[in-house]
Amino acid sequence: MSDYFVKIVPKDPFCKLSEQGLKRAEESLKSKLSCDSITAECYDTPQFIDCGSDLERITCPECGADLDFGWWQEAMDHAYESHFMSLEAEMPCCRKMVSLNNLEYYFPCAFACCEIIVLNLNSGADDAENDITDSVQKILGTDIRIIRAHI
Ligand SMILES: [Zn+2]
Repeated sequence: MSDYFVKIVPKDPFCKLSEQGLKRAEESLKSKLSCDSITAECYDTPQFIDCGSDLERITCPECGADLDFGWWQEAMDHAYESHFMSLEAEMPCCRKMVSLNNLEYYFPCAFACCEIIVLNLNSGADDAENDITDSVQKILGTDIRIIRAHI
């Protein structure tokens, strides 16, 4: 059976959260959710928080064109040279400068310096997931995004 990850990350890819804040959010989630485990991770520089095998398509947020995975991989390699501290890339379609964080990923992906990982959230708990968004945002004091991945 594959594992299902729900990753809670700040909307801002460069946002760094205090360990106490993350710990508080983790404890709060543990009291509300039924799942295998909840862990918080922090990184020095933004990491690509992916949706695993669910990534099917990436489009340009400026003109809506489909982006070639080969082009995207190259843009990712280039951005990685700066450890993702610079995410801007020129779109091959419309030549606009766009952050790799703002591309339209199907399913959603993001860049983040910290994440709270919920492993194998019980199915049918999607409502709970929506409910927690507000409370986690309040605890962390920042807007969050939720990335789901099947590995
Ligand atoms: Zn474009």
